Amino acid sequence: MKPTLIYGGTFDPVHDGHLGSAKALIKKFDDARLVMIPCQIPPHRPQPAASPEDRYAMLALAVENERDLEADDCELKREGLSYTYDTLFSYRQAQGDTAPLYFVMGRDAWLTFMTWHRWQEFCDLVHIIVMARPDDDKNGDRVLPAELKNWAEQRHSDLNETMAIAAGSVCEVTLQQFPVSASMIRERVAARESISDLVPETVNRYIVSRHLYL
Ligand code: ATP
Repeated sequence: MKPTLIYGGTFDPVHDGHLGSAKALIKKFDDARLVMIPCQIPPHRPQPAASPEDRYAMLALAVENERDLEADDCELKREGLSYTYDTLFSYRQAQGDTAPLYFVMGRDAWLTFMTWHRWQEFCDLVHIIVMARPDDDKNGDRVLPAELKNWAEQRHSDLNETMAIAAGSVCEVTLQQFPVSASMIRERVAARESISDLVPETVNRYIVSRHLYL
């Protein structure tokens, strides 16, 4: 079975930074699929501006013509808090014990990882890919907690070495910079500014038609 990469987020809305990093990451594999999963009630942050249904609809539009990218609404169908651990657990069950499975997160999410439900058990289920971004150094005031740094160092591996192994490693991957965030998009829409250079055209049209972020 080909490796599956799971990219979770609020996707409020999905934008070219998410899509660009997903595509850059998947190029590092010979043949893999990347599934983007919007969370329903993110436990770690303020509630999203758009409804779960709208966030998923935008994601589905964004990936509809992308061969290796998919959207999955599994967290929206679950009752209560949407824990990433539970999602990864069901993916692991569906894929069996030997298929490589990856969970992808940006460095900003990685910095908060120790607050995540069952974080120490993630590597029993998946490899973790942390997308370091070239401007991370500018965020030097946000330092990785020593306990997490230690935990990750014990599991550090080169991405190529993980491709035949089901789970267990932490890989840091530096990708090109995509200087866009969902907050930037929401602010621009609220200010009646164009976002056509930041999201796929279908997503832009959806935001306009549903009067989102105004
Ligand atoms: P917000 O601005 O509302 O905080 P966001 O743009 O960071 O949102 P999220 O849905 O919170 O989007 O992000 C999901 C994941 O995507 C996170 O792991 C985050 O680090 C990563 N990510 C967000 N923007 C980019 C980007 N421009 N390039 C690479 N990764 C990104």
